[in-house]
Amino acid sequence: MQQNIKDILHPDFKVGVLGAGQLGKMLALAAANWHLPLHFLDAAEDFPAAGLGASFQKGDFAQYDDVLAFGLDKDVLTVEIEHVNTEALAELERRGVKVHPAPDKLALIKDKGLQKQFYLEKGLPSSHFELFEDENAVKAAVANGKWAFPFVQKSRTAGYDGKGVSIIRSEADWGKLLPGSCLLEECVDIELELAVIVARNENGEIAAFPTVEMEFNPVANLVEFLVCPARISPEIEAAAKALAKRCIEAYALCGLLAVELFLTKKGELLINEVAPRPHNSGHHTIDSAYTSQFEQHLRGILNLPLGDTRSKCPAVMVNLLGSEGHSGPTYYAGLAETLAIPGVNLHFYGKSHTKPYRKMGHATIVAETLEEAVGNARKVMERLRIEAR
Ligand code: ADP
Repeated sequence: MQQNIKDILHPDFKVGVLGAGQLGKMLALAAANWHLPLHFLDAAEDFPAAGLGASFQKGDFAQYDDVLAFGLDKDVLTVEIEHVNTEALAELERRGVKVHPAPDKLALIKDKGLQKQFYLEKGLPSSHFELFEDENAVKAAVANGKWAFPFVQKSRTAGYDGKGVSIIRSEADWGKLLPGSCLLEECVDIELELAVIVARNENGEIAAFPTVEMEFNPVANLVEFLVCPARISPEIEAAAKALAKRCIEAYALCGLLAVELFLTKKGELLINEVAPRPHNSGHHTIDSAYTSQFEQHLRGILNLPLGDTRSKCPAVMVNLLGSEGHSGPTYYAGLAETLAIPGVNLHFYGKSHTKPYRKMGHATIVAETLEEAVGNARKVMERLRIEAR
């Protein structure tokens, strides 16, 4: 059933968000356009979103009791991070609170092993994989010839931003093996890394944003550069969107699903992993799309009509990472020179302390052509440095 917009925009209608980081902050900014107050749960009052909500509850979103107590008086709950207590969310759902993404699907997505099994069961294309109890079982599988180098090892539950991923090329890399429950994936021959942000509401309406192309910082293994539209053929664009739509339909999720894809050198599309929330690969939509991913997430979880996903103009998104060799109180070096570049939109997350490669903000550079946006994005990367005071 369609939510009544009058009820949603009633001052007593409460939307709770687990996590008050930068994604929560940008969600609160989108909600503020509708004067829709959000309520946040997270560990510290100086987190990016904490001051922007109608209320902030100090607590641990990974703890059952904290999540239950936070959720009881909310109408709708959502997350800005996957690593939350899904048992408490399931209990809240039983007690009548609407929870998007659905707790069982969130639990599945949190575990990269279960996520891969899901794609296998649903016939969604993804790389070949196998689950292992620990790193010793991985070594045994190599010793008995079941797996050959190179391969990718991933922690089932601990990873984010490339931290739970290790590429093992030979026995010389045994020291890089991650401890504990894991999976091995075949090493995909990657031509491009792409992402499609897709949204769904309870009515079953689905809409995908244009595909984006990612470039990684080779040291930190973080996306540092993102290009929209992706430089791919119309056929691959259509196939990527269709795959993302199949994926959100298979999960039957409401709100956003960010679908990270590999385009292989043979031209095949494989699902790498998904995130059921706003995502780094959709930040540019704030400045370059008819509807931002954050507003689209709200529309999805509140069962409102989904927004127009078209781009207004080409865009490049640059993650602003803490500079190497700098740990301490944040200082934005080169700010004036950066603001002098045409088409620059700076988004700082308000993190009081920087450290190397920490995500401190992002810049979206818009222009009439993608070439111009890429050129100006390179200037931003040269001029702006996040240093310690
Ligand atoms: P995280 O959840 O930490 O972002 P990912 O699973 O997205 O981890 O992996 C991080 C990066 O590692 C990917 O963006 C890609 O560059 C590389 N990678 C992951 N899986 C594979 C694979 N099977 N083959 C080749 N490279 C991979």
